[in-house]
Amino acid sequence: MRPEITPELIAQAERLLAEGHPQDQIAKELGITAYVVGLIAEQLGKSSSKKPSCSRKPPRQRPCQPRPAGLDAATIRLIQRMLALNWYHNSEIGLAARVSHDIVGAVKAGRRKAVNQARPVLSEGERFIPETIRCPTCGYRVEILPCRICAATREKSLTSRHQRR
Ligand SMILES: [Zn+2]
Repeated sequence: MRPEITPELIAQAERLLAEGHPQDQIAKELGITAYVVGLIAEQLGKSSSKKPSCSRKPPRQRPCQPRPAGLDAATIRLIQRMLALNWYHNSEIGLAARVSHDIVGAVKAGRRKAVNQARPVLSEGERFIPETIRCPTCGYRVEILPCRICAATREKSLTSRHQRR
């Protein structure tokens, strides 16, 4: 049976990777596949300055895209983090980030970059915190409370439980 890949699990894997543990050992320890650990490692490599040691082919240069307007950096980061989990459907990420699934697809394809620093629109019950913190539940950096990644995770667990019945 496949273990549930939770943000907590990812955060744990990230920490172990950062501490330099080998990927297969992390996979064994956390009960996830080495493939998933590899994905997390890849994502870490992208966000840090050091280059991955493997020599993969460089990303294809894309033709100049018209600048899309109105997507803020925080929302893009949220979408990227959720995509990196490799667990959510585009539409689920769209719901969490309050964007259409087309935009999620565009972020996935690398066509969307943060184009402005404007803050995302808050939903009812949400508030900005003065400084980005690590969510105590999932460990991701958040600037809106309650944490949207946690909320999406909760919703996802609920729906998958319903579907199983
Ligand atoms: Zn959280």
